Order: sequence, then C-alpha cells, then structure tokens
Amino acid sequence: MDSKSLFSFTLIHSMKKSCFYLTQTIYLILFVFTNSAFSQHKHHCLQIAYPEVIKKVTTTEVHFLDGTVLPLMHHTKLSKDYSNFEEFLDNASLMNQLEQCYPLSEQYLPLPKNYDPGRARYEPFFKKMYGSSAAEVRKKLVSIRWMPTVINKSLMVTTVNGVDKKLLAISKELETLPKEFHKYLQNPGGTFLWRTIAGTKRLSTHSFGCTIDINVAHSDYWRWFSPNKNGLYEYKNRIPYEIVRIFEKHGFIWGGKWYHFDTMHFEYRPELFQKDCHC
Ligand SMILES: [Zn+2]
Repeated sequence: MDSKSLFSFTLIHSMKKSCFYLTQTIYLILFVFTNSAFSQHKHHCLQIAYPEVIKKVTTTEVHFLDGTVLPLMHHTKLSKDYSNFEEFLDNASLMNQLEQCYPLSEQYLPLPKNYDPGRARYEPFFKKMYGSSAAEVRKKLVSIRWMPTVINKSLMVTTVNGVDKKLLAISKELETLPKEFHKYLQNPGGTFLWRTIAGTKRLSTHSFGCTIDINVAHSDYWRWFSPNKNGLYEYKNRIPYEIVRIFEKHGFIWGGKWYHFDTMHFEYRPELFQKDCHC
C-alpha cells in the first residue's frame, strides 16, 4: 500500500470509527431523553383522566377545581427488582401511583414478581374525589341496575367521575355477550363497602364506590393459595378476556393483570389508560 492509499485507508477507518461513536452517543442521548421525558409526562395522565375534578397538574402538584392542592412527589423509590414492594404500597405517593404501567395487551403474561399496576394508591387522592369517610362516600352513591335483562341486581356505585354511567354502559355491553359468559357476572361480589384490604391497613377502593367484584365463585385471589417452593405465587385465572375487554374500554383496570392476582376485581382507574401510563 503506497502512502496515499494508506492515508485514505486511515482516514476512512477513523471516520468510520467516529461515526460509530457518534451513533452510539446519539442513541444514548435519545435513550436518556425519551426515558426522562416518559417519566416527566406521567403526571399528565391524571389531568387527562379526571377532568371533572382536576383543574391542572404541574410537575409537583395536583390542583383540584375546588382549590385543593395535593403533592405529586415520589415518596418511596421502587427498587428495580420490586423487593421493597410492601413498603412502596404502604407509602405510595401520586407519582408512585403511576409508576408501574398497565399492560393493555391480552398477552400480559408472565407478570414479574410484585408487578401490580394500579395497586399503589395515594389514599388522600381517592378520599378527595370520592369522600373521606363512609358517610361522605354514601352521599355520592346511586343505585344502578346491573345487567337488567339477564341478572337484574341493584348495585350502589359513586356518581363521581361518572362511574355510575360508565358501569351502566359496561352492563349494557356485557348483556350482549353469549349466555356462557353470564355465570361470571351473576351474584356480583360487591361494589361499595368501606373497608381495608385484607392483611393491610390500606383502604380498599371498594370504600369509594368506584370498584366492582364480579362473581367470586368463578374468580381467583392470590391470598387463597400458597406460594410454590421458590416463594412465588402461581398465576390463576378463569375470567374470559371478552369480559375484561369491556371493562377496560371504559377505564376500569383488572386485578387479573397483577402478580397478586384478584380476578374478580375491576376498579375505575382511567389514568392508567393514558398514553404515558399504559404499556
Ligand atoms: Zn375487589
């Protein structure tokens, strides 16, 4: 190789090398940027999801239409392997509430240990919207007819955020499902009941009238089982996805998409269906 071609060879080679590093740097910047942008935008999920009660959401606070302000900070950092999960649930902030994205897909399995999108709840947020005591929540409840042509049962649900209207729309759509689906929807396990979640001090969202349990007899709940020899709960579900799809369409998350599965449980959590909060 003469000196001229050696020069061009070295030049091309070093250009290729710089190009490689440049591309890598761009990838890295893009990765960091999109990830930080993603987490920065999560708070907007609340604003879009609850227009009836929320006026604006900044990067640090939620401002309600009546002037109430709630903080939006991270209380507990969820560790990468979710090992501090109970502590995370006990101290969840509004940002923690949005941390685990809700899987929209029908192919949501396998769920990693402690992957329970929606189980982290900042209690003051729910108390502010639906009522801070059983008596306050009761004032906003109405009775709806659940699947009148098939089951015809009355259920007490909240009118806040139009939950009553959404459940009526769900009921109407569920009635169009073939007969073999009815058994999952008969004898609903319950809607409103001011109570804590079994084994915790945290209030269940049944306390707020924005949650429904369908037929317990055809459902599975992680606490009814023992962990396997590796200390893991094995996923169980009998509820057909045709039912899940109808609830999700109207902003209700399903407890069947939790590692700590609770397949009878549907809860109105529209924030987890917004662009930056689902996956
Ligand atoms: Zn439930």
